[in-house]
Amino acid sequence: MELELCRTTLLELLENFNSESNDLREKVLSLVPMWDQLREMGSSIIPSTIATSARDRILHYALTYPKTIISNREFMIISGISEWPRRVRELRVEFGWALINGITAKEMQAVGELREEDGFPNCSEMTPNEYIMLSTEQDRDAAHRWNIAKTIRNGRGGAKARILDFFKANIGVPVSGEELRYVAKGATEWARRVRELRTEDGWQICTHWQGRPDLASGVYVLESSRQLPSHDRSIDDAVRRAVMVRDNYTCKDCQWTRASWNPDDPRHLELHHIEHHVSGGSNAAENLVTLCNVCHDVRHR
Ligand SMILES: [Zn+2]
Ligand SMILES: [Zn+2]
Repeated sequence: MELELCRTTLLELLENFNSESNDLREKVLSLVPMWDQLREMGSSIIPSTIATSARDRILHYALTYPKTIISNREFMIISGISEWPRRVRELRVEFGWALINGITAKEMQAVGELREEDGFPNCSEMTPNEYIMLSTEQDRDAAHRWNIAKTIRNGRGGAKARILDFFKANIGVPVSGEELRYVAKGATEWARRVRELRTEDGWQICTHWQGRPDLASGVYVLESSRQLPSHDRSIDDAVRRAVMVRDNYTCKDCQWTRASWNPDDPRHLELHHIEHHVSGGSNAAENLVTLCNVCHDVRHR
């Protein structure tokens, strides 16, 4: 109803627009109500029974099209306000919606997250003017973590050190790529630094594709405050994943799986070299086995 009224009003204004006029000001002034009407139309597309504020309209729109590249022009239309970027930021930071910028998405996909087989589009051409909603689930602790991130971002050390500090402040808690990027002060290589922390420094950072298929895409977890012993570090990401898939994400000694995780016994899965790496054992899948951290300790004792 409201939308139709906007449409007819706009048509009428267009009809009456005098493009032949030589009066510059007259043309500008007659465009103003059209501009307003168009904006009104954009914000009326989503009825007020569904969303009443600009922020809620942006949210409704993004949730309607998850895992889809959305241009900032679409948010401009649907919100009907010029400060829409601030609303997008609030949704992410204060309300914990995984509505991320094109640059972050591009960086995450480049290191093997946000895979096409998981329903994500090709993000390699995404720009800062585009967004993508990674998940339709809200992360309610996001605002608290964002405050921690802010403190660490202003602290000392390089990007990698700050990323690690942030992980250590959130052991066992899923954090988003957007937060890691923020803590790294936008260093374009943040996703690679995360991978180095895992593969070179032995920090047990898991993702949907690295050890924790139960996690949503685009989410990272540091599982333990303990670094893996150096003999377990140099395993290739693809091999690491293949071994866990082969072993069904199950400890081969006690059959522990993520499904039996509980806060009193917070285990996680690690890889163990059957023939020890120091005594010449290789990093090939045949020489690796999935164990929970408790059984892994037992084997080394
Ligand atoms: Zn075990
Ligand atoms: Zn081992």
